[in-house]
Amino acid sequence: MASYNVFITGGASGIGYGIAEKLAESGHHIIIADINQNAAQDAAQSLKNNGGSAQAVTVDVCDAEQIAQVREQLADTPVDILVNNAGIQHVEKLDSFPPHKWQQLINIMLVGPALLTQAFLPGMRERNFGRIINVGSIHSVVASPYKSAYVAAKHGLLGFAKTVALETGDCDVTINTLCPAYVKTPLVEQQIAAQAKENNLTEEEVINKIMLEPMPKKQFISIEELAGTAAFLISPAARNITGQTMILDGGWTAR
Ligand code: NAD
Repeated sequence: MASYNVFITGGASGIGYGIAEKLAESGHHIIIADINQNAAQDAAQSLKNNGGSAQAVTVDVCDAEQIAQVREQLADTPVDILVNNAGIQHVEKLDSFPPHKWQQLINIMLVGPALLTQAFLPGMRERNFGRIINVGSIHSVVASPYKSAYVAAKHGLLGFAKTVALETGDCDVTINTLCPAYVKTPLVEQQIAAQAKENNLTEEEVINKIMLEPMPKKQFISIEELAGTAAFLISPAARNITGQTMILDGGWTAR
């Protein structure tokens, strides 16, 4: 099986790290790209301790200059697979949503993936191979109150992926978006507390009445399911799957 260089933003934690672990186990070289330098180095070290091949780079996905530097740093390690995963959440009514937070969420989860795709796509095109996997969300296809910036960024990501899919029809490059419902990661743990405050509920009530309530399967999506779907998207069987939205939602949107 081919061994690829895989660049994973937000790869130091949660879903990004889970995808990194799975792809490292399959023999790919992992570039953990994260704004948190120490966490990125620790994550790359853990992959190496487990027999994988990995390195860490520090980057803020919103910063075009830092992205250009990282691309230079990786001149001898061409990126074959880009996983646009870095993300944050802010839960607040639009009325009081801080404008700088709105901007920050859009920058990290929509502008960042565009800047990184722009940085690595020319190399993929030149080598006639590339796979871009965006980590969207169930909130790429439905909305929830108090999440206006997140929902807007994640919906935007689908439009971005469809456009790039049309622009890469001439080469063996695909771009797709994974859209999970809730996954138990540090991002969601924080959100449970924030939602409890915003909705005047206990944390248990937030899990059962808000997070799992719309899902017929009433379960969190596991990181392993996402990692497995990412592995499928880079496999030969998926070479003609592009511009698609892969929804892992326990039946949420079947209603
Ligand atoms: P997490 O908080 O565990 O990890 C996010 C990582 O992104 C962290 O390591 C953080 O340092 C990094 N990061 C944040 N801002 C960055 C920036 N500007 N530049 C580079 N790195 C940055 O979160 P997670 O739950 O694993 O989320 C990963 C992705 O999955 C996000 O895009 C999130 O929106 C999406 N998602 C999560 C869930 C869920 O339930 N956890 C559900 C749907 C979608």
